[in-house]
Amino acid sequence: MSNENFKELYVGELKDLYSAENQLVKALPKMAKVAFSEELRAGFEAHLEQTKGHVQRLETIFESLNESPKGKKCAAMEGLVEEGSGAAEEDFDDAVLDAALIGAAQRVEHYEIAAYGTVCEFAKVLGETKHASLLEKTLQEEKQTDEKLTKLAKEINVQANEARSPKELDEAKPGRRAPKHAA
Ligand code: FE
Ligand code: FE
Repeated sequence: MSNENFKELYVGELKDLYSAENQLVKALPKMAKVAFSEELRAGFEAHLEQTKGHVQRLETIFESLNESPKGKKCAAMEGLVEEGSGAAEEDFDDAVLDAALIGAAQRVEHYEIAAYGTVCEFAKVLGETKHASLLEKTLQEEKQTDEKLTKLAKEINVQANEARSPKELDEAKPGRRAPKHAA
């Protein structure tokens, strides 16, 4: 078959995405758990549910291809998740932590947007129109998630810049022990 190699490339990229989405199913609850903003936490939880749907759509595609979705590990997503959890472990104040989490989450969404854009176009060329429409749905959800994160970042970054944490304010009250950095 003349397009055998291109189809193999397509299947390989889908496997990579299957690994990436499954890594996110594990990472998103952790991000939701540490998020300070209620809205951000709810956003991570909502995207977790969407992400489970992304896994299912890929499974539907693999069933129709009669192929296993397993066998690849997405090293890029592993790195993005690792960097994100590194940010979560830093000793940031509440809104600063959230700003870092949003930055990590948007890197993830941008990776997914690139990857789904690629496989969606591959599917079209291969004549896999049902795959293309499933992949397009996921692509749109990733884009919407990225836009929501951008909106949220606009509020949270301002808070991160101006707010002192309640702990810091509490410590600064008269009669309280002064914060360590106060001279
Ligand atoms: Fe996804
Ligand atoms: Fe996503």
